[in-house]
Amino acid sequence: MYNKSIECMPLAQLRELQSKRFVSLVERLYNDVPFYKQQLNEKGLAPGDFKSIEDISKLPFTKKTDLRDHYPYGMFAKPMSEIARIHASSGTTGKPTVVGYTKNDLDIFDEVVARSLVCAGAKPGMKLHNAYGYGLFTGGLGMHGGATKLGMAVIPVSGGMTERQLTILQDFKPEVICCTPSYAQTLSDEFAKRGIDTKDLAVKYAVLGAEPWTEAIRSQVEVGLDVTATNIYGLSEIIGPGVSQEDYEEKGTGSYIWEDHFYPEVVDKDTGQPLAHGEEGVLVFTTLTKEAFPILRYWTNDICAINYDQNAKRTHIKMSSIKGRADDMLIIRGVNLFHTQVEEVIHTMKELSPNYRLIVERTGNMDTVKVEVESAGSRHEENLESVLKNKIKDTIGLSMDIEIMAPGAIPRSQGGKLSRILDKRK
Ligand code: ADP
Repeated sequence: MYNKSIECMPLAQLRELQSKRFVSLVERLYNDVPFYKQQLNEKGLAPGDFKSIEDISKLPFTKKTDLRDHYPYGMFAKPMSEIARIHASSGTTGKPTVVGYTKNDLDIFDEVVARSLVCAGAKPGMKLHNAYGYGLFTGGLGMHGGATKLGMAVIPVSGGMTERQLTILQDFKPEVICCTPSYAQTLSDEFAKRGIDTKDLAVKYAVLGAEPWTEAIRSQVEVGLDVTATNIYGLSEIIGPGVSQEDYEEKGTGSYIWEDHFYPEVVDKDTGQPLAHGEEGVLVFTTLTKEAFPILRYWTNDICAINYDQNAKRTHIKMSSIKGRADDMLIIRGVNLFHTQVEEVIHTMKELSPNYRLIVERTGNMDTVKVEVESAGSRHEENLESVLKNKIKDTIGLSMDIEIMAPGAIPRSQGGKLSRILDKRK
């Protein structure tokens, strides 16, 4: 464990720490960021109304549109003279989201990434193949700083140039790799294509994140690269990667949220009402310690559940894997549908690869879903379509059309990402 006294802090003490930090955060933001002062004033609230973390639900949510409205620096709580770094995340629509860090914030970033790396199996003295993109995105430099703090040797490979990555993995012998799950799949496919035995690699742990993934992808990467793969989650608005991390010995039980820094809530996606632990809804975060770009109740749009795990090594709360985005959820003939549900069914059939997409169309008044999925090999049995169709109908309750395609037939974006949903109704 990287920071045992914090990671195993008794819950009552953790709550006290969160309360203390939260109360001073509200005061800071009220005084230093006009947006928050206005938000509180509009609700007739003042810093004095916040006595403990329990009062957090009095606050309104902060949304991505608020950040866009104050582009680029309007949400910063410190003058530029105190800013040590600026990052930005890709704006799928319009301008990017700009975030800033003081030197202390960068220390916090390093700390949570160092904790996450240890949680993933890494140790001081190991080498990290860092294939997250360096640059404006938080991934590359974020992982880099945390690994350095932990005492690892960082190989700053960044993204792309797969051929070179394969060589580095073989020759430099890193024990740990971090990248997106889809890129880990690409690397594993390329090794297989070249007939390279992964037993010749030193890599043992893969820290995968920045996009949703499933157990199906985990199995593929773990077999293909001969690693233990764990989930790292984060977003630039909160800090970057390292908001939460899955433990390599507790796989499948969720990822620890470092809640001494990031206070999580899960709320109903329609009403915004806080939900009980274990219930699925929108994940909302409040940063308790950040200086340059603190944020109150940030609406991530990511759907998951949070819960305490009594059998876990650490006391901090865990989040489930991300089931999708609140804006990504399909409603098909009254049934809520996440593409990952279809993925789980596909995973049960060894004849199929994890590469698939859903095409949604409206025919008359009816929404229809077609599943395109690539087969795992070049040949497949005649009735595979109907087997998959029936399995989906049985488990999800929806009838979908199926097309089984040749490997590589579904179009990929430039970065090699496969877009899971093509919604033609819009
Ligand atoms: P990044 O550059 O790391 O992708 P962004 O801030 O641009 O950071 O994107 C953050 C979003 O990426 C999250 O809100 C979430 O939707 C997605 N994301 C990041 N990590 C994961 C993960 N481990 N699982 C699922 N989704 C993730």
